[in-house]
Amino acid sequence: MTGRAPRTAAKPKSAHPAKTKPPTIGFVSLGCPKATVDAEHILTRMRAEGYEISGSYAGADLVVVNTCGFIDAAVAESLDAIGEALAENGKVIVTGCLGAKGDIVQQTHPRVLAVTGPHATQEVMAAVHAHLPPLHDPFLDLVPEQGIRLTPEHYAYLKISEGCNHRCSFCIIPALRGDLVSRPIGEVMHEAEALVHAGVRELLVISQDTSAYGVDVKYRTGFWQGRPLKTRLYDLCNALGELGVWVRLHYVYPYPNVDDLLPLMAEGKILPYLDAPFQHASARILKLMKRPASAEKVLERIAAWRRAVPDLAIRSTFITGFPGETEAEFNELLDFLDEAQLDRVGAFAYSPVDGAAANELPGALPEEVREERRMRLMQHQEDISTQRLEAKIGRRITVLVDDVDDEGAVARSMADAPEIDGLVYVTDGHELEVGEFAAVTVTDCDVHDLYATLA
Ligand code: SF4
Repeated sequence: MTGRAPRTAAKPKSAHPAKTKPPTIGFVSLGCPKATVDAEHILTRMRAEGYEISGSYAGADLVVVNTCGFIDAAVAESLDAIGEALAENGKVIVTGCLGAKGDIVQQTHPRVLAVTGPHATQEVMAAVHAHLPPLHDPFLDLVPEQGIRLTPEHYAYLKISEGCNHRCSFCIIPALRGDLVSRPIGEVMHEAEALVHAGVRELLVISQDTSAYGVDVKYRTGFWQGRPLKTRLYDLCNALGELGVWVRLHYVYPYPNVDDLLPLMAEGKILPYLDAPFQHASARILKLMKRPASAEKVLERIAAWRRAVPDLAIRSTFITGFPGETEAEFNELLDFLDEAQLDRVGAFAYSPVDGAAANELPGALPEEVREERRMRLMQHQEDISTQRLEAKIGRRITVLVDDVDDEGAVARSMADAPEIDGLVYVTDGHELEVGEFAAVTVTDCDVHDLYATLA
């Protein structure tokens, strides 16, 4: 069919009188039965989320055009339909087979808000959310706008992808969760915005491999607030930095693209904090682990990061007693810690997870040795972490309050992620509120935590 009038599902009536006009979408569907099924899936999701479907361009807040790209005539018809929807309505999202044919849609109609290929209900909904957010009705919706969360109200985890393209020999996550699948950037940004509107003051970006965000979709362009954004960590961090809250990055592998994030930290857009799991320092063990990085390169990279952002806090994790690890290789790891001067370190004694390739390696070490090395590593790092905390005494820092009790406020600095890093005890912070940012002066420290008074 042509795009003259949007072909729509029957216009459903709301079961409840709406207090505000629900967001309304026009839908033009072209092409074969497979395209029709795609359209049905998208329309079902829209209705389930409370969108109305309009029978006219004029009554719609936004139009979705489901295209066909099979033969030249179908391409021309699809491009005409997009042009008509743009002329009649102005806000257009394109999906379907034509979207998978290179840049033809963007080149012909640069004003379209987003373009996806076929079978892309998730991506279409992400684009719809970005340009026409669903109406949240607290009386009808079982789920609050920001979703159900298990964290306190003032911080939240923001998952940007699932799965992993690496095959570290001690890990079975790729077998359980598959290869990397990045969430569309518009969808991630919409979720982040909803969290901030709901009172979140700190977003913790997580995934299995944060630096790889967007690799699987070739850094595809998405949209947020009508603006094109590449599905890439730099663009995501830059956009998150506009939300006015703390943005903290976890599980960042030291790939070269991480260097690009340092200016964002220097500008204060994201926190000067990197949680980068290095796992080991010996080249031979890293190779057996099938890890991508070498220790010297990591040390060089850390030095360059610190030159760019002197206050950068680096957290990492390591595995002790990996199969075949010699005492000399373990000592290499301790030397690496001396050199790297990491702020926070977590260590795990190697544990043979069922199904992990590393279990087949020769030279498995007894549990006592794996554990004894873990303890030795943690003791070794204790002095380094303490010295780094001592260097903060007398400095004025910003903290985010997690709790207030009779003894004052329990807060965290930019260098402290919740649950895994240290705390800042603000001894005169009784009047502070949970979720509030406060300026404090550091007065003392112990092995893990800082003590401070209001500045
Ligand atoms: S350890 Fe991390 S990077 Fe390695 S395979 Fe597992 S999830 Fe991927």
